[in-house]
Amino acid sequence: MAIKVDIVTPEKMLFSGEVDMVTLPGANGQMGILRGHAPLLSTLDIGEIVLHRREGNEYIAVSGGVVEVRPDKVTILADVAESSEEIDEQRAQAALERARKLLAESPPPQQVPEIMASLRRSSLRLKVARRRAGRRIGAVPQFEGEDEGENH
Ligand code: ATP
Repeated sequence: MAIKVDIVTPEKMLFSGEVDMVTLPGANGQMGILRGHAPLLSTLDIGEIVLHRREGNEYIAVSGGVVEVRPDKVTILADVAESSEEIDEQRAQAALERARKLLAESPPPQQVPEIMASLRRSSLRLKVARRRAGRRIGAVPQFEGEDEGENH
C-alpha cells in the first residue's frame, strides 16, 4: 500500500505523489517510512531522500528541514533540496574543491563547521547526481566518514 509524499522547498514543490516507501535522513539517522507509520515530527540532516517506487526509485539531495509523518502522508519541508536530475555536478565538484582547499588552509575554528557542512552538501550532491537513471554508481569522491553506507 502506498503512502503520499510531498516535498516542498522555499522555492518550489519538488515532489508530490504516492510511493511504496520513503527513506530520509532524520535526526537519529536514515529512516524508512511505510504507510501506517506512527506519527512523528523530526528535523532533517544533510542527506539523501529515496522515493521507492515500482517504476524506479527517485533520489533527492536534502540539506536540512523538517518532516512530519502521519500514517498516510509524509510532508517534507526542506531548507534546500534538489532531485538527482537537477543537480549541477560541475558546481558541486567546484564547491567540494573549494571546501577542501579552505580546510587545508587551517581556517579559524569558528569557520570549520560551515566549511564541513559545505563539504557534506557538495559530496552528497555528487553522490545523488550519480544515481541518475541509466548511470552506474561509480566512485564518488567521498569525504572520510561521509558515506551514508547505503546503495539503493
Ligand atoms: P555553492 O557553493 O555551489 O553555492 P551551496 O552548498 O553553498 O553550494 P546552498 O546554499 O546549499 O548551496 O544552495 C543554494 C541554492 O543553490 C539552492 O537553491 C540549491 O538547491 C542550489 N544548489 C546548490 N548547489 C547546487 C548544485 N550543485 N546543483 C543544483 N543546484 C544547486
